[in-house]
Amino acid sequence: MGAKRIIYMDHSATTYVRKEAVEAMTPYHAEHFGNPSSIYSIARESKMVIDTAREQAAKALGAEPDEIYFTSGGSESDNWAIKGVAFVNRKKGNHIITSKIEHHAVLHTCEYLEKEGFTVTYLPVDQYGLVDPAELEKAITDKTVLISIMYANNEIGTIEPIAELGAIARRHKIPFHTDAVQAVGNIPIDVNAQNIDLLSLSAHKFYGPKGVGALYIRKGTKIDNLIHGGGQERRRRAGTENIAGIVGLGIAIELATADIEGHNLKIRALRDRLMSGILAKIPNSRLNGHPEKRLPGNINISFEFIEGESMLLWLDDEGICASTGSACTSGSLEPSHVLLATGLPVEISHGSLRLTLGDINTDADVDFVLEVLPKVVSRLREMSPLYQKSGKEGGCNVQ
Ligand SMILES: *Cc1c(COP(=O)(O)O)cnc(C)c1O
Repeated sequence: MGAKRIIYMDHSATTYVRKEAVEAMTPYHAEHFGNPSSIYSIARESKMVIDTAREQAAKALGAEPDEIYFTSGGSESDNWAIKGVAFVNRKKGNHIITSKIEHHAVLHTCEYLEKEGFTVTYLPVDQYGLVDPAELEKAITDKTVLISIMYANNEIGTIEPIAELGAIARRHKIPFHTDAVQAVGNIPIDVNAQNIDLLSLSAHKFYGPKGVGALYIRKGTKIDNLIHGGGQERRRRAGTENIAGIVGLGIAIELATADIEGHNLKIRALRDRLMSGILAKIPNSRLNGHPEKRLPGNINISFEFIEGESMLLWLDDEGICASTGSACTSGSLEPSHVLLATGLPVEISHGSLRLTLGDINTDADVDFVLEVLPKVVSRLREMSPLYQKSGKEGGCNVQ
């Protein structure tokens, strides 16, 4: 096999695990394997490192360690926050407010709750993907028991006015949850200053391991358990802890939040050169998301007369890893709910490309994509009529 050069520009889907995290995790696979619930001394080591990771996660959010609960990732944290707060307040009210552009871990959870008798308001967004605080305020009723708005969108990178939305929730004494899976490591977070009561995060989006995350729960917030069983996580989340994963999360969140501005400066510079280069070189292309209020590594551009999946396959041939807003769920081409919510026409939504840069990307990567992408787009356009189906199914959801 020839060593093909891989250019990874899909950091919003997942990141590699940084070496400091791998090194810190290694002893907890085979050497220190004690169950933290056990009494003997080798188990105490496991318990201690969980406490350290809890402190690291708390510090990154401006929270207290006993407000951090480890989970299996962003999806579980979202499910727990939403179902847990909804069910515990069932007698008080049955109304939930969220937005149209949430991750499926939030949207599908809300759809499930609709079947369980809850009513959900899905707030619209403007052309840039922003939720309007005035719309949130208008949607609140005396039956509203939860507001859940994502911190930053995983597809178009738009950063929501979280502190302002949280202040409205607080004024109405409604618990405020935010899916901050894309925000951690990219935006400084302070749960107190930003009026956040519950916050979901996931290690594999900030150079930590997959299958581990956390839910921040402000002290005093009423919430039902999601996972029932043993007494782990102070009796709120059962299951023997993923010690190695939790250790990796702790190191990764500490390092990812140590110098957010420095990290952003570097990635934003690469991103801006790539983004303006693509828009300049490729006619009939347009930027999705907000020009400024966006994640530092995010590019989302639509190309007219292009079908996103074919574009991804051609880019993959060149070693470029990217995503599209055209998700082939169950074989049928469904355009991204996020792009549609911004008012983008269906045909153009199908031709969108998401490139998300991270700390492994270089100027040479940017040059290479700027050389290859215009050729791919023009070749595909020559092959139009539109929607040439690739014949491939599955595996192309935008995470
Ligand atoms: C990736 C992602 C999730 C899901 O997190 P997992 O750890 O993969 O379950 C949820 N929300 C957003 C915004 C994401 O980007």
